[in-house]
Amino acid sequence: MSVPPKSVAQQLATPVEFLKGVGPHRVEFLERLGLRRVLDVLFFFPRDYEDLTDRREIADLEEGPLQSVLGVVDDVELRNTGAGRCVLGVLIRGATGHLRGIWFNQPFLRERFVLGQRVLLSGKPKRNGLVWEMIHPKVATLEDGEEVPPGSILPVYPLTEGLQQWQIRRIVREAVDAYTGVLDEVFPAAYLESHDLWPLARALPALHFPESHDALHRARRRFVYQELLILQLALALKRQQQGSTRRAPCLAADAKIDARIRSLFPFELTAGQQQAIADIAADMARTTPMNRLLQGDVGSGKTIVALYAMLLAVAHGYQAVLMAPTEILARQHALTLERLLANSQVRRTQLTGGLLPSLREAVHKGIAAGTIDLVVGTHAVLQEDVQFAKLGLVVIDEQHKFGVRQRATLKQAGLDPHYLVMTATPIPRTVTMSLFGDLDVSTPRDSPPGRQKVSTYLVREADRTKWWDFFSKKLREGRQGYVVTPLVEESDVIQAASLETMYESLANGPLEAFRLGLVHGRMTSDEKDAAMAAFRSGETQVLVCTSVVEVGVDVPNATLMAIEGGERFGLAQLHQLRGRISRGSLPGFCGVFADPQTDEGTKRLKAFQSTTDGFRLAEIDFGLRGPGELFGTRQHGLPPFRVADLLRDAEVLEEARRDAQALVAADPGLAHPDHARLRRQILARYGQALDLADVG
Ligand code: ADP
Ligand code: MG
Repeated sequence: MSVPPKSVAQQLATPVEFLKGVGPHRVEFLERLGLRRVLDVLFFFPRDYEDLTDRREIADLEEGPLQSVLGVVDDVELRNTGAGRCVLGVLIRGATGHLRGIWFNQPFLRERFVLGQRVLLSGKPKRNGLVWEMIHPKVATLEDGEEVPPGSILPVYPLTEGLQQWQIRRIVREAVDAYTGVLDEVFPAAYLESHDLWPLARALPALHFPESHDALHRARRRFVYQELLILQLALALKRQQQGSTRRAPCLAADAKIDARIRSLFPFELTAGQQQAIADIAADMARTTPMNRLLQGDVGSGKTIVALYAMLLAVAHGYQAVLMAPTEILARQHALTLERLLANSQVRRTQLTGGLLPSLREAVHKGIAAGTIDLVVGTHAVLQEDVQFAKLGLVVIDEQHKFGVRQRATLKQAGLDPHYLVMTATPIPRTVTMSLFGDLDVSTPRDSPPGRQKVSTYLVREADRTKWWDFFSKKLREGRQGYVVTPLVEESDVIQAASLETMYESLANGPLEAFRLGLVHGRMTSDEKDAAMAAFRSGETQVLVCTSVVEVGVDVPNATLMAIEGGERFGLAQLHQLRGRISRGSLPGFCGVFADPQTDEGTKRLKAFQSTTDGFRLAEIDFGLRGPGELFGTRQHGLPPFRVADLLRDAEVLEEARRDAQALVAADPGLAHPDHARLRRQILARYGQALDLADVG
């Protein structure tokens, strides 16, 4: 009886336990890493590499370049250096001398070293007296008899407890050797050639076990390109789908409408605001939906630009909605509109969490019947079942708090609305390009006239008293201020308690002569409202709060800010916070208390002190942290990248984007049989997230 040959898919679906070296007990560990089938193992990419290309004897070490040393653990010493800090020193004996590996504040590494064990350290050696040292070197522990050929670059995989690096390496090696030949190539041969890409059969082994830096580079490029191309193709297909179906109302601004709207504005617009309004008016005059990002630094005056767009929609008999990320901000926007529209006939309403059910129902009815023109609300509330009669424009404030998917959830029949998204956190071009595809961008870079600058101080513990004396002096001059504490994750209750403690210690200490207010997450909307109103009116002089004031809150007389636990805030967040005190024509003062534990933390705070330019800070942040955290794919409802890195791979991204556009233009829907595999990959990865219809 002959057994029919297995298909490619069947072979790749072989369970991991059939790989040599994987006994039943190890299956469970692999499962924890998401490795069930051979296929999973093949595409389980290293998270890092150990560069052992320059292997040396200890006697031949030199200061400077990256080198690696093989030796035996001779001594391990963990020393406490006070205030929760420690130093781990591990002495390694080689054939020609000793080398000490040193780690700061990583006591748990202690467990990795056993006397007499063979290890490979790689790092940049430095001479300290008679001994060579490496600070925070990488370590590979070698099993008995395990050899690492000099010159290798070792993969470093994500691990789970119970599995060693060398074990996972061996399993991957097994899978790669046995199954690489089975894999299907995604790209046609001619495409690989013309785009200078390594075929999968060559790139996959090289990504796991590169033989040189160049091989690693070529292999990585192949996978990065593929990953970015698939995303760009998905976005291009999405655009194609929408382009043919989506229609928005034409809401053009004529001279009369324009003059009427501008007459409501209490100040001259800046050049940046004028330009943004011109961009928006041009978009809204078209029948394809506007999809524009308005990115202007904190305090650059985005609200009035948004108001222009909303009134433009209303002038044409359409509804407009403004979505804010928090209740406080929604209420503040509502207040601003109230002020500016006091003498206009625009029918407006607020839709926030605190609304009584009966009132809410009435508002819903008004929106559905079209008797309400302008709605301001939190996005949470607007996600509920609100049906619009004739929605022409959606404005989303502070986009970085949202995912793209939420944009699609406002309901109405018929035409699609125009979209305007506002953010004070500038989004690097690579990110807008890759994640938002065709988003248009307006970037006002000027700020309203007469803005004063904010001086920023990193206050040392010893200078606390001095800072509060200064703070008090300014309060006596009539100014107001914020005291901000970081959000703690545990719970609202703990947060409220820690805020109250802070409040008490200030009210009975350095600020006892002043009227203090408090806002926290355990308060009802009405209580928050009341606290904000009291602060806005000057009834309270100091507001003790969490980073809820981070976005948008606008009290021009508040020029002082103290930030506690500054190391716990991101750079963008710190900048947003500081933006609260540069609203008026008075100079601001920001004091940060911080105890940074990492290099990155220190750099972040230094950067924060050194400039108030939000764009500059965003660039620094992008460089320090990478785009992952700030603008990760995940935040936008897309699966995370597996190999690509938007910072490092910006060039490949450009290339992939161009190629994707050309491909889709030449073969709409990617229906050609040559593209069948690409299409399958696109659908598997992004079909659901991007709501792609099964093209072809
Ligand atoms: P953001 O861009 O941070 O949302 P806002 O729209 O809240 O900024 O504007 C900040 C402050 O600047 C508000 O008090 C607003 O009234 C004021 N403002 C905006 N544009 C101008 C302008 N052209 N001239 C003077 N003040 C302005
Ligand atoms: Mg704002």
